[in-house]
Amino acid sequence: DQQKFRKWATTKIRTTCPHCGTGCQVDLLVKNNVIVGAEPADGPANRNLLCVKGKFASYKFVASGDRLTTPLIKRQGQFVPASWDEALTLIADKFTALKQNYGGNSLAGFSCSRSTNEDNYVFQKMVRTAFGSNNVDNCARVCHSATVHGLAHTLGSGAMTNTIADITTDVDVILLIGSNTTEAHPVIGSQIRQAVQHGTKLIVIDPRKIDLTKNSTMHLQAKAGTNVALINGMMNVIIREGLADQDFIAKRTEGYTAMRELVADYTPEKVAKICEIEPEEIINAARLYAKAGKAPIIYCLGVTEHSTGTEGVMSMSNLAMLVGKIGRPGCGVNPLRGQNNVQGACDMGCSPFDFPGYQKVADSKTIAKFEKAWATKLNPQIGLTSTQVLPAATRGEIKGLYIFGEDPIVTDPDTSHVRHALESLDFLVVQELFMTETAAYADVILPGISFAEKDGTFTNTERRIQRIRKAVAPRGGAREDYKVFCEVATRMGYSMTYDSPSQIMAEIAQVVPTFAGVNYKRLDILGSLQWPCRSLDDPGTPIMHVGQFSRGRGLFMAIPYKPAKELPDATYPYLMSTGRMLYQYNTRAMTGRTAGINKLANHSYIEINYEDANRLGIKDGDKVQVSSRRGKIQTYAAVGDQVMQSSVFMTFHFPDGNVNEITNPVFDDIAIIPEYKVCAVAIEPV
Ligand code: SF4
Repeated sequence: DQQKFRKWATTKIRTTCPHCGTGCQVDLLVKNNVIVGAEPADGPANRNLLCVKGKFASYKFVASGDRLTTPLIKRQGQFVPASWDEALTLIADKFTALKQNYGGNSLAGFSCSRSTNEDNYVFQKMVRTAFGSNNVDNCARVCHSATVHGLAHTLGSGAMTNTIADITTDVDVILLIGSNTTEAHPVIGSQIRQAVQHGTKLIVIDPRKIDLTKNSTMHLQAKAGTNVALINGMMNVIIREGLADQDFIAKRTEGYTAMRELVADYTPEKVAKICEIEPEEIINAARLYAKAGKAPIIYCLGVTEHSTGTEGVMSMSNLAMLVGKIGRPGCGVNPLRGQNNVQGACDMGCSPFDFPGYQKVADSKTIAKFEKAWATKLNPQIGLTSTQVLPAATRGEIKGLYIFGEDPIVTDPDTSHVRHALESLDFLVVQELFMTETAAYADVILPGISFAEKDGTFTNTERRIQRIRKAVAPRGGAREDYKVFCEVATRMGYSMTYDSPSQIMAEIAQVVPTFAGVNYKRLDILGSLQWPCRSLDDPGTPIMHVGQFSRGRGLFMAIPYKPAKELPDATYPYLMSTGRMLYQYNTRAMTGRTAGINKLANHSYIEINYEDANRLGIKDGDKVQVSSRRGKIQTYAAVGDQVMQSSVFMTFHFPDGNVNEITNPVFDDIAIIPEYKVCAVAIEPV
C-alpha cells in the first residue's frame, strides 16, 4: 500500500507559466509522470493569482496525443518518420551545402520566444557560428521590437523600467495605452483593477472600450494609429501649463528644445481632430498624469504594432521624461511583453542587430569579444529581421531557414506572401511541439520539448529571470532542444556541447555583463533576479534609470505625427485593428488543446459597432466576409459598442478566419515591425 501510495502521490513542481509575459509562478501537480493540475504559487509578479490560461491551459497540451515525438523527413510530398541521426545528418548536409554555394548570409533562423533563455542562447550561437550568419530573430520582431529599439534609443535600455508590483501598488494614476490588459496579461489586469479599488485613478487610451474602461477615470477613445499625435498634444498642454519638470529636464536629459518646438504645433484642438476625440479629454488627461505623484505609463502592442511603432514608443519616453516620472518608484515606461520569454529571447541575442545582452553586431569590439569567447570567426554583417528574411526568401536570397517554435504562416501579415516565401526556400527545418501550418511546408520536422519537460529560465516582462523545472519526461523520442542545436552545429563543423542548462547560464553570465550575477544557485535560493545583475552580490535591479539613464542622459525625440499607411476609403471603408482575447493564446498551439477553453472560445469574430451593423444588415453572430487589398476571409460578427463607428476589431488566434490573410504587410522603418493595428477592410453579410 505504501508503494502504491508513493506511486500515485502528487508531486508539486514549481515553475513559470508558459503563456504571457507576466511570469506567474505555478505549481504543476504531477502523478505518475503525468501533469494532473496547476495551482497558483506566490511569485513576485502574480502574488498567488493565475488567470484561466495559467490554471487550466498551462499543462493539458503537454500530454496531448497530437505531440510530435519523432523526426519527420518529407519524401515525395509525405512526411515519413526518421531516426535522429538520419534527420540531423540531412539538416547539416543541406545547410552546409547551401553555405558553401551561397555563403552564410543565405541561411537564417527564427528562434522561439516561448522557449528558455538557454535554448535561445544556444540557437543564436548555432546560427552565428555554424551558419555564419546574423540572420537570427524571434517573434518580438512582430510584437515589441519597436520597444527594444525605441526605449534603447531614448533611455539606453529597451526594457520595462519598473516592476509589476511597484506600478500597481500605491500609485496615484496609471496611464494605460494600447493595452487590453485584462485579456492579454490578465493577472496584471487584475492588479490594475485592485489598484483602482484602492484609489488609483486610471486613464485608458484605446480605440476600443476594453474591460478596464469600466474602472477608468477617463477613457480617451482615440482612433487607432494616432498615438504620436495624442502624446504630442498632451505634452503641448503640460508645457503650456507649466507642468513640465524643468529641473529633471535640465539635469538628466537632452534634446528638449527641438521636442518642445515641435509639440508647440500640436494644440489640443488640432490633435482632437486627428484622434477624433474632444480637446478637453486631451487637456484633462495631460493634467491628471502630470500632476500625479506616482504615475506609471503601461503600454502594449497598441503602441508598437504600427508603421510608426518605434516613434510611438519614443513618445512614451518623451512624456515620462517631460514630467520627471522615470527612474523612481511607481513611475516609468512599462511595456507589457507578450510571450512568456519574448524578453529573454531578445536578451539572449536572437536579433540580427544584437549579440546576447544587446551587444551590437555593428561594433567591431563586440565581434572580437564573441570571436574570442566562442573561438571562431564571426560574420560582421548585420543580419536580416524575420520580416526581411521572408521577402528575401521569395527573391531567392535566403535559401535555408531553421524555424524553432514559431508559426509565421499564422502570425505574420499577409499570409499568402509568407506561404510563397516558404515555398521558395531550398530547405526548411521546423522544430515544434505540434504539426503546424508552417511545419507542413518543412523538409524536416524535429519534435520539440515543452516547458514542463525541461529545466531552464524564462525572463518575464519586468526583466525578472525565473526558473522553469522539469516536471515530466519528454514525449516519445524527443530530445532537449539545446542539444539538438548543438548536434546541428557540431555536424556543420562548429563543435558545441553543454551538459545542462545551468552550464549554459554560466556561459551567458560570462559574456553578458548584465547577467554576470545570475546563476541557478542564486535563482533557486532567491526565487528570481531582475537584470541588470552585474555581480554575485548584486541583488538585481527593480527600477532602472535611477540617478542616471542607461545611456547617460535621457534623449527627447521630436516626433511628427504620420498617419497609418493604409486608411479607409470608398472601397474598404472600415479601419481594422487586431489583438488578443482572454481565453486563447497566440496561434492556440497550446490553449487550443484544452477542451474547456475551446468550449469558451472556438472561433474567430469581428467586433462591429451597432450602427454599422444595422446599416450593413448584419446581426450579432452572423457570418460575414471581411476583405482587404490582400484577400478575404469569413468570420462571425460580434455586434456591440466596443468599437467606434467605422472601426472594427478582430482576434488573431484562429486559422478559420485567420485575420493575417488580410492584414497589411507594411513596416516601421526602424524596427521593421508590421502595422497589425491599422488596415482598411470591407465587410458584407455572407
Ligand atoms: Fe500565465 Fe499570463 Fe495568465 Fe499569468 S497572466 S497565468 S503568465 S497567461
